[in-house]
Amino acid sequence: MGYNMRKYLIKGELDMKIQFLGAAKVVTGSNYLITTNKYKIVLDCGMFQGSKELEKLNFKNFEFNPSQVDFLLLSHAHIDHSGRIPKLVKEGFKGKVITTKATKDLCDIMLVDSAHIQESDAKWENERRKRSGLPLIEPLYNSDDAKASLNYFNPVLYDQKIKLNEEITVRFKDAGHILGSAIIELWITENNKTVKIVFSGDLGVKNKPILKNPELVEEADYLIIESTYGNRLHEKKEERRKQLTDIINKTVVRGGTVIIPSFAVSRTQELIYELNEYYEHTEGLENFMKVPIYIDSPMAVSATEVYRDNSYCFDEESKKLILSGDDPFKFANLYYVKRQSESMRLNKESFPKVIISASGMCTAGRVRHHLKHNLWKNENSVVFVGYQAQGTLGRQLKEGIKKVKLLGEEIAVNAEIYSIEGFSGHADQKDLMDWLKGFKRLPKKIFVVHGEEESAEAFAKLIEEKLHVQTIVPALGDEVEMKDDGLTIYAGEILEPKKKKENIEKEFQEVKEEFENLVSKRDVLINEKILQKDYDQLKNKLLEVNQKLMDINMIISK
Ligand SMILES: [Zn+2]
Repeated sequence: MGYNMRKYLIKGELDMKIQFLGAAKVVTGSNYLITTNKYKIVLDCGMFQGSKELEKLNFKNFEFNPSQVDFLLLSHAHIDHSGRIPKLVKEGFKGKVITTKATKDLCDIMLVDSAHIQESDAKWENERRKRSGLPLIEPLYNSDDAKASLNYFNPVLYDQKIKLNEEITVRFKDAGHILGSAIIELWITENNKTVKIVFSGDLGVKNKPILKNPELVEEADYLIIESTYGNRLHEKKEERRKQLTDIINKTVVRGGTVIIPSFAVSRTQELIYELNEYYEHTEGLENFMKVPIYIDSPMAVSATEVYRDNSYCFDEESKKLILSGDDPFKFANLYYVKRQSESMRLNKESFPKVIISASGMCTAGRVRHHLKHNLWKNENSVVFVGYQAQGTLGRQLKEGIKKVKLLGEEIAVNAEIYSIEGFSGHADQKDLMDWLKGFKRLPKKIFVVHGEEESAEAFAKLIEEKLHVQTIVPALGDEVEMKDDGLTIYAGEILEPKKKKENIEKEFQEVKEEFENLVSKRDVLINEKILQKDYDQLKNKLLEVNQKLMDINMIISK
C-alpha cells in the first residue's frame, strides 16, 4: 500500500481485525474492513479527494479481495464515503450493500454522476497522453459499472434492527449529517460472545434546518468516530443566515455576483432552505434586494428532488413548514439551472446575482467556470460554506492565494473571499463531545478517524482527558487486531503498565513451556540418531528461545 502500516494488537472478546484503509488521518476515502473468523464486513467505500497524490490512491487495488466481502455497510451517500462502490463491484464484490433508503436514492444519482466525472477525467487525460505519445488510461469506472453496483443495494429504514445472519446484526441511526446519513451499530456474535462496534459515520450539527439531530447511542465495545472538526468550534451558528444574506446584500449593492461553491447534496438544500426563510418570511425586504438565486448544478437539482421524496426523514419544523403549504425548496427569485447553455449564459450577463454551484471544494464541475469568470472582479464575492480539504482549490482560495490556475488560464483573485463556518455539515468539537457523553456504557477503545492528523490527535487527547477512554488514531493502512487470548507484547500497543506486566508474565510462561518442550524433543531425536542438519536447526531454535527468555526476564526485572 505504500503506507507505513502499524499494527496494534489488543485484547478483545473475539478474534477480530479492523483495518483502516481510508479516512484515517485524512478526511476522505472512508473505508474500513472488519474481518471476523467467518466474515468480511466493509464500512464505507469512499473516494479519496483532495491532492493529486491522495486521488491516485483511488486507482490502487483494494487491500482485500472484493469477491470475499460479505457486507458493505454504507453510512451515507457523500462520494468520499460511497464513491468507490462501483469499483468494488467491478472488481468482484458479490455481497450486500446495506444502507438507508434515502442513501440508496441519493446514490442512484450520485454514483452515476461520479462515473460521468471519471469518464470525462479519463477522456481529458487521454487527449493529453495522445499528444505526448503515452499509453492511454481507463476511467476508474464508467456509468455502466455505477448502474450495475446499484443492484447490490439493500435499503433499510432508520432504527430497524436487521439480522444479516446468525452472527451479524446491524442498526442504522440518524446521523443528522445529510439526508439518509447514518450512525451504524454492528453486533458480531461468535461462540455465544457478542461484541458491539459503532461507526459514527459523519455526525451532523444539532438544530440545523431540514434534518433531525444526530441520534444518541447508548453503548458500544468499540467506537470508530469521525473528527473532521475535532479541534475546532463552529462560531456563531445561529447567525449564519444573517452572515450569508449580509454578504449577498453587500455584494449586490455594489453590482457584484456572489459565487457559493456548495456540495450538491445537503449543503445546497440547506442554503435553499435558509434563503427561502429569508426571502419569504422577512418583513420589509425591499424587492430590489430579491436578486436571482441560481442553483447551477444538475446534481443539486436532482438531489433536491430526492430530498422532496424523502420528507419523512425531515425534522418537525420542516414537516410543519411543508404542511403549511410552503415548499422550502421554492421561492419567487430561485431558479434551477439544468442546461449547460443556461449555465454559460450566467457568465455573459453581469447583473447582480447569486450562483450556487458544485463541487463544494471547487475540484470539478460548473463552479470552476463561474470562478474563472468572476474571481478577477473585485465587486464579486465567493462564499465558502463547507469543509475545504487540503490540496483543493477551495482550500487555496480560503487561505488567501492571490492567483490560481483555472481551466488552463491564470486568474487573479480580486473578489472578496468569505467563509461561513455555521453551515458546516459536521459536528464541531463540542458537538462530538456531547454526542460521546450520550453513551451510558462507554466504549473500551475509541478509534479516531476522518480528520486531518492535527484534528484527530487533538480530539483523541480530549477524549482520554475527559472520558478516560483509551484512543487510537490510526493512519492509512493501520490495523487493529483483537485477540481473545491477548498474549503477546504488541508494537504500538496502548495498555496500562499493570496489564503490560501481566501479558509479559503470560508470555514468559509460554516461552518457558516451548523451551522445555524443545529440550525434551531434542533428547528423543538424538536417541533416534537424527541428521546433523536437523539437530543444528533445533539448536538454533533453542538458542533463539533462550534469548527471548532472557529478554523477558530483563524487562520484568526492570
Ligand atoms: Zn459526509
